[in-house]
Amino acid sequence: MAGITAVLTGRLARRGTLLSIAIVNGDAIACRMSEMTARILDPAAIEQKLSLNTYNVDAERAHIRIIDSEVCLKCVRQQCINCCPANCYAPQDDGTVLFSYEGCVECGTCRIVCNQFRNVEWTYPRGGFGVQYRFG
Ligand code: SF4
Ligand code: SF4
Repeated sequence: MAGITAVLTGRLARRGTLLSIAIVNGDAIACRMSEMTARILDPAAIEQKLSLNTYNVDAERAHIRIIDSEVCLKCVRQQCINCCPANCYAPQDDGTVLFSYEGCVECGTCRIVCNQFRNVEWTYPRGGFGVQYRFG
């Protein structure tokens, strides 16, 4: 089906990030993080709630990885950095992106926003590993 098929807006952050993604013809085309929104959403309260979560990190298997760091050099927007609510993607001085899976909240955002190069290999953690949500 042609055209916009979905607009997803969610509060997905430890820091109160608002994320908006429009799905057009099966591709995500937009991602927005608003400083103003972050203030409105009371990041301290979100931080407090998310601090209740626990993580059982699988040291033997990264459930997400960047397939080819060289490809990230061609990615102008590098949406993964701004859109990951857990700050798992960090820009490097050489233009590549460093990924750390330990704090991942398994939202799936990076899988969607890396739509141009499809450079993120994404799976869930093995059973018993990963984030354990304990929202109050
Ligand atoms: S969005 Fe994908 S290609 Fe672009 S920097 Fe992030 S992982 Fe690399
Ligand atoms: S699924 Fe991707 S965007 Fe979401 S928290 Fe994990 S690394 Fe970040």
